[in-house]
Amino acid sequence: MAWNYRLIEKRIFDLECKPSLDTKEKIALAQLRYLLGIYDNFMFFKYQKSDEQIFSILQERATIYNDIWKDEKLRLKKTQEVDFSLDEALEIMHDFYMEQSDTFKKAFLQLFKEQSNIINVSDSDSYTFYISIFKQTYINITKDKTMNFLSDLVHEFAHGMASVINEDFNNNKNYSLITEVNSIYFQKKFLDYLFKNNIYPELALNEEIRYDKFINSAGKSIINNKYLLDCWDECTYFNSFLVAIELYMNENGLDYLEKILLETPQDIYEGAIAPDKYIEVNKNIENYQKKLIILNNQYNK
Ligand SMILES: [Zn+2]
Repeated sequence: MAWNYRLIEKRIFDLECKPSLDTKEKIALAQLRYLLGIYDNFMFFKYQKSDEQIFSILQERATIYNDIWKDEKLRLKKTQEVDFSLDEALEIMHDFYMEQSDTFKKAFLQLFKEQSNIINVSDSDSYTFYISIFKQTYINITKDKTMNFLSDLVHEFAHGMASVINEDFNNNKNYSLITEVNSIYFQKKFLDYLFKNNIYPELALNEEIRYDKFINSAGKSIINNKYLLDCWDECTYFNSFLVAIELYMNENGLDYLEKILLETPQDIYEGAIAPDKYIEVNKNIENYQKKLIILNNQYNK
């Protein structure tokens, strides 16, 4: 999860409930109120006009995805999960990000160095938060006793890395239907990495199927809704997932991803929505599903 209206509201509420605020907190509060204003503005004005056209594209994609998924019958396996400590999780994640290209490696290390200042382990939602006045990323991560914890950590760090690479990308004012692309991309790549290196491969596969199920339910909700704004989060996850899959299945995925992160928001947006620019969204979903089935069959023998 990247930016979330409800969570920004909660942060504001938490700060407002405090008996007194220090200067840092006062600035943070001002910034959060500002973000909330931009979010409102964005949600209710910016995309109102193009709503219908975008939503029909997403509904079309969701229908195609739903048809493919229906036949595939991917099932979660009952497996023994592992209770990773934060340090163990950080170490595994570190090794993975060290295998990425220089841009991403550098962005990762910048955040990783500051881990004790920016990571907060909690029992609520996982989300990443960027306050541009401080030029600082904050990561809230839900600790549970499953692979989900590790996969979420990789996901949230990728949001933070997007802010390091291009401060505007994850900033609320540019929140778009592809905000989740880089995070989902690295999540996929990470699970693949675990699989290939024989690090909890069964859990990695299960996590991948679990995510697929989550996207499938988002797609169903898009099919069953009438307006983009009634299922905005689902649209964001679903669209980002399709773009991420396209990059993930493509040999030059990292190059494209870097390009997406560095382009201007409007270009990114158009690029992700218009199927003939940059990538062909939908093209590789079938291949991706096939890949999961083959792995799944191997593990169910
Ligand atoms: Zn996210």
